[in-house]
Formats: sequence, C-alpha cells, structure tokens
Amino acid sequence: MAIIVQKFGGTSVADAKKILSAAHKAIGAQQAGHQVVVVVSAMGKNTDMLVDLAGQITDRPLAREMDMLLSTGEQVSVALMAMAIHSLGHKAVSLTGAQIGIKTDSSHTKARIQSISTERLGQLLDEGHIVIAAGFQGIDENFNITTLGRGGSDLTAVALAAVLRAEACEIYTDVDGVYTTDPRKIPEARRMAQISYDEMLELASLGAGVLHSRSVEFGKKFGVPIHVRSSFVDAPGTMVVAEPEASGQPVGGAALTEDEARVTVSDVPDQPGTSYAILSRIAAKNISVDMIVQNVGAEGKADISFTVLRNDLPLATEAVTEALGDLGAGTLDYDDQVSKVSAVGLGMARQTGVAHQMFRALSDAGVNVQMITTSEIKISVLVERRGAVDALRAVHQTFGLGTPPATPGPPVAASKGAAVPDALAPDALAVVTRLAGMEDLVIEGVVLDDTQARLTIADVPDRPGIAAAVFEKIAAGGLFVDMIVQSSGHQGRTILSFTVPAQDLETALGLTGEIAAEFGCGAVTSSPHVAKLSVSGVGMRSHTGVAMRMFKSLAELGINVEMINTSEVRVNVVVDGRHGQQGLACLQQAFADVLLS
Ligand code: ADP
Ligand code: ASP
Ligand code: MG
Repeated sequence: MAIIVQKFGGTSVADAKKILSAAHKAIGAQQAGHQVVVVVSAMGKNTDMLVDLAGQITDRPLAREMDMLLSTGEQVSVALMAMAIHSLGHKAVSLTGAQIGIKTDSSHTKARIQSISTERLGQLLDEGHIVIAAGFQGIDENFNITTLGRGGSDLTAVALAAVLRAEACEIYTDVDGVYTTDPRKIPEARRMAQISYDEMLELASLGAGVLHSRSVEFGKKFGVPIHVRSSFVDAPGTMVVAEPEASGQPVGGAALTEDEARVTVSDVPDQPGTSYAILSRIAAKNISVDMIVQNVGAEGKADISFTVLRNDLPLATEAVTEALGDLGAGTLDYDDQVSKVSAVGLGMARQTGVAHQMFRALSDAGVNVQMITTSEIKISVLVERRGAVDALRAVHQTFGLGTPPATPGPPVAASKGAAVPDALAPDALAVVTRLAGMEDLVIEGVVLDDTQARLTIADVPDRPGIAAAVFEKIAAGGLFVDMIVQSSGHQGRTILSFTVPAQDLETALGLTGEIAAEFGCGAVTSSPHVAKLSVSGVGMRSHTGVAMRMFKSLAELGINVEMINTSEVRVNVVVDGRHGQQGLACLQQAFADVLLS
C-alpha cells in the first residue's frame, strides 16, 4: 500500500479547529487507500514564544537546554493531533523524534539526521494507525534531545518520506504553494505550478522560508516528490520535482534574506592560508557563511568579506577575533544592517545580460549595491536593510516574475553551466543510501575550466549604477560574463572583479577601461589566464566545511584563491591559470572520501 507523508506547519495547527481540519485531511488520505504519516510543527508561534521565554532568563542558554525546551512544542501538537483523529473514530499513535528513532549528530539546535529506523513506523502503519510524528527533533547517541534548526519539520517530513519510500510528501502551509517571491512582501508574486529541486534549494537557502533548504536537499538526494499546498484551500499547489516544464525565462524566482550581517577582515597577509585560517574558525562554530569575497590590496595585504545570518554575528566575530590572534594581524569590521537580495534561475547560465538587467533595475530604484556574488544559477547582492524590500520588488519586476510565462516548453534539465544532474541516478542513490549519515555531504564532481580570464576594476566609487554600466557595456559587446564579485566598500570605494572567455579579454579590457574612466574608477587590471575549479554536489553551502576544505588543500600547495562563489549545488574558486591541473588533482584528492564515482 502506498505511503503518503503529510506535514502541517505551525499556522496549520494553530488552534483546536485547525488541528481537527488537519486530522480530516489525514483520514481522507487513509480512506483513499494510503498508509498515512503526519508530521506536525509546534502550534502557531509556540516555538518563538519558547525562544523568547528562554531569552528572558539568560542571554546565552546552553544549546542542549534550548533543544530540550523547543522540542516540547511539537510534543504538544502530536498528542493533540492523535486525540483529534481518535475523536473522529480512527486509529492514530503519536511519536516523538526519539520514539521514532530519528538519530542525529550532537550539534544542538542545528543537528543533522544520521539515520531513521522504520521498524516501529512500519508496524504501526500495518496495524492501520495514522502515525503522528513530531517534526524538527531527533536524539543523539547519548539520548540527548536535538533539534534540526528552525523550520526543521519540513526536513523531518521529507526524510520520513525518503526512508519510507513514500509516494509523495505533502507540505501543508499557510500559502497555496511556492511563489516567485514571498507573497507577503511582494503581492504581485505568482504561484509556480512546478519548480526544480535546484532552484528551490537555492531559493530556500537564500531566504524563501516556505521550505527548509535541507528538506529540499533530501528531496533531491532521494528523489522525493514534494507538494507544497494550502492547509485551508483544497487546490493543487507547487510540485518540487527534478525536471519541471521550462518557463523560457532566465530567472524563476527572487528571494530576500532580511537579517544578514557583513563581516570584513582587513589588512591580513595576502598569502595562501589566510582565508583558511579565518573560515576554519567560523566553520568550527558551525556557522554558514555566504558571499565570500576576497580582495588583494596594497603592500602584500588583503581583505576578505563575507556574510552570515545576523543571529550568528556574535559567534562569527568571536571566531574572527580568534583567527586574527592566530594570524597576528588584521582588523575586523561589520555591518548588521544589511539584507541579501537574490535572483535565481536555471536559465541564467545560458543567457548573457541577466546580471546587468538586475543591476540596472536596482540602480533605477536608487539602491546601492554593497557586495555582489554570482553563481551559475543565482545572483546575490547585499543592500542596506532599509531599502531591501524595494530592492526585491525591483528585481521581481525587471524579470517579469509577476507575469505568467507564455506556453510552457519541454522539461529542462539542469543547465550545462550548472552541470549538476537534477536527481541522482539510481546507482548514485544506492551510494547515498549506504552513507552512514543521511545528511552527509555528497560530491558529484570536481572540474577545471581553464578557458577564462579575469578583470578587476579597483577603486570603484560606492554608489548606484556603476556595475550596471559595466555589464551593460560588456553585454552590448556580445561578451559572456561568468563570475562576478564586488567587495564591500572600503572608505567609499569598492573592487569589482569578473571573468570572461580568455579570447575576449582584449575586447573586455577596452570596454571596461572606457567605463572605468567615465565613472572615475581606479586602474583596470587583468589576468589573461585563470583556472576556475568547481566542486559540485548537494548541500554545498549548508555543509560549512566545503569552501574551507578547498581553501585548506589549495593553501597547502601554496595556491592563492583569487575569487570564490558558492551556491547550494556548487562552490567555484578562481586561481592563477598556471595552477589549474595541480589544483584539480589536489581537490579531487581532498574530496575523494565523499566523491560519487
Ligand atoms: P509553516 O509554519 O507552515 O512551516 P512557514 O511560515 O515556515 O510556514 O512558511 C510559509 C511562509 O513562507 C509563507 O507564509 C510566506 O510568507 C513565506 N514565503 C517566503 N518565500 C516564499 C515563497 N517564495 N513562496 C511562498 N511563500 C514564501
Ligand atoms: N517549530 C519549529 C520552528 O518553529 C519547527 C517548524 O515549525 O518547522 O522552527
Ligand atoms: Mg516552515
């Protein structure tokens, strides 16, 4: 008998009436011939309330005790849900994460699932029970209760669907699907009928809170069809699948992470190993970093900037301070009033000019872009928090996301540039399944692209419109830009670097020189031959150690990383072209233990 997993989020179980309505849905699915597992979140804002309560007692509660506290929210919901089903005359049993046997590691408040036993679940289902599972929680090897990170009930649901080989995982929530951006922020946003795992993964990790990004990782790894739909309206929602129908548009969605913080470390030695020294301290505290930008400054000094979630800022500054102690040099600066706006789309890698269209829209809206990073399927900019929603609106509008696409085309696989298969092939799945940790890092490939050149414009005035002008000019010249990074402002000036095909360098230099002169920028320098080394896989950003492992192994060979960008499916670094082959061999070795082959 086919199994179905239904997950109800906080608003969907906010009161007794809603719990009863969810219970009806579960019973309906059982009566339609399914075995049913229901995953529930804490009622309404209960988890926030508990977080707040802890904050009234202490600034720094122990993570273990936070987990003990927060897991109670879900325990309340499962019991009430089971009672609701009983009251309607059906069989149900509620279980906590520990009772199911969801084993995790011991990183409290952001634990990773290692294994799930299906024995008890299977037995209860065979006896005709609807099984009600507490979302968001597990247990470590010492029987400590752990939680999976805020929003983690999605992960419980998709993980259970994966191990039970369920037909589908239905995520019931307070919106009727996945929208082109958060409909509460931008009312013109439009619901998508389908979205690919890769785009959803990227959107979720860049701020689209409708699904937890690690639940999408899981869905992709194990090929679980995820259906995001409304708890309150009986209508189809959004299917998250490997190969959606193509919209023909280069950008599929936009996202906002409102509460970001920028950290800049200046005047550190410009030598291999510096970034590693800093990032390894951060990774050791299990903090995810994004938008890593490194610049070579004057006199053998470099600076490195990156963003973290604002909540992680105190721990991140602590880590950087430790690293500066190790390095014996450098200064720390941060800004916690910034937000990250991103455009995401599989079609981006195949089209020129997406970046300049985004920068122009932001400039026209009067938004100053503080930092830029791109990858094959996304462009992220860091902006002042005050204007962040306006920036999101400008991006949403310029890519026509509010307008339904014309007739859908044939399904698209991940683009050539993205080079990541959408769903893992069955043999790969077997490998993944054997991995001891279900959320372990999986690397699908390490590749070298040594066909590109790098250009850098120094001393770019920190005001709107310059990036737009540069990339408009380059696009008008018919050139394809691959990686773009812009560092945060240092004394009112920023540094902008990008790569183009090596054979186009001379043309690009000419065009860039004109713009640099027009806007009063500093010198344009270039490197005619750079090597882009890429590591692709699943969960590349949420595994904080990937970029770090790359930095470490390259640093050990004395290879300096000139540029870096990260996405959920890929981390790219640019190094001097002479080190391409050596760098490739060293990364293949560094990831040999997690490489699918
Ligand atoms: P639940 O409690 O059911 O897990 P969440 O609050 O976690 O619900 O997620 C649903 C919310 O996600 C919506 O109310 C919406 O505001 C927000 N959201 C953010 N980005 C998107 C998006 N792209 N599409 C739909 N909803 C989004
Ligand atoms: N209750 C948890 C939270 O609010 C988990 C979840 O809702 O998914 O983060
Ligand atoms: Mg949620």
